[in-house]
Amino acid sequence: MSAAFEVKRTAAEFRAACDALRAEGGGFGFVPTMGALHRGHLALVAEARRRAAHVAVSIFVNPTQFGPHEDFTRYPRPLERDLELCREAGVRLVFTPSPAEMYPAGERTRVRVSGLTETLEGPFRPGHFEGVTTIVSKLFAASGPAVAVFGRKDYQQLKVVERMAADLLLPVEVVGFPTVRDPDGLALSSRNAYLSPEERTRALAVPRGLARALTLHRAGEESAGTLRRAVLDLVEPAATRIDYVTVAGADDLVPIADSERVGRRALLAVALFVGTTRLIDNIVFSEDNAPVTTP
Ligand code: AMP
Repeated sequence: MSAAFEVKRTAAEFRAACDALRAEGGGFGFVPTMGALHRGHLALVAEARRRAAHVAVSIFVNPTQFGPHEDFTRYPRPLERDLELCREAGVRLVFTPSPAEMYPAGERTRVRVSGLTETLEGPFRPGHFEGVTTIVSKLFAASGPAVAVFGRKDYQQLKVVERMAADLLLPVEVVGFPTVRDPDGLALSSRNAYLSPEERTRALAVPRGLARALTLHRAGEESAGTLRRAVLDLVEPAATRIDYVTVAGADDLVPIADSERVGRRALLAVALFVGTTRLIDNIVFSEDNAPVTTP
């Protein structure tokens, strides 16, 4: 018989259900999401299940992490399908609060991480990470997980959440999981649903560019400029607009100038638009596998 599956909509009910799961013993894992679940999310759930006996998932399109001109309203919300996927994946508990439940009238508190939030996505999405760290700290406070799994697809988010948990002395192990991709290399994202077939083909320039840079780095290329240019050569013709193609320190996220050498381990991160859809992707040299084998 499979274990019970519960869905909670209020923070108080969610907290009580988490307390009950924790009391069953064996460890309690948590995977926060915005829903429209795909294989990437389900891989995080599987990883959480490897590390903990019981796993909870939150599905919440968090308004405070969207800018005024971003896609909060049109973000996909296929809740019934998501719940079924969670149930099939062995999730014990799903939290699907309303915005008013997470941000009741009169609330005044925000959680902000400095430094790490100021490069890469920072300038392009003002307030985004403050929204992320605020909601993640609220979700951690309500659920009290021993382990929480985040995707390396959102590499900067992972680093920011790791820092937040350490700085706030939260008793949670933050685990990063490798980016899950389609066979042609495109990183899975709920936002891929916005792409037309033609745009999706153009978007393949991103994993191909990252793969080309990884191949060069493996062959000994260490010039940040050369590695960045390898990506730009492929993505420039495909993108409608490029926010950034940046090489940065894999831990401090500080950009590395074109004239500098990257060393063994460094982040190469991309953010661009194909049509009206904003895509992000990244690799860490010496850590990640090639996104696709034929660049
Ligand atoms: P989201 O629902 O987009 O907020 O993502 C929820 C979690 O799933 C975050 O930790 C993401 O980094 C992670 N995630 C999203 N897409 C992928 C992917 N393709 N591979 C691995 N993790 C992912």
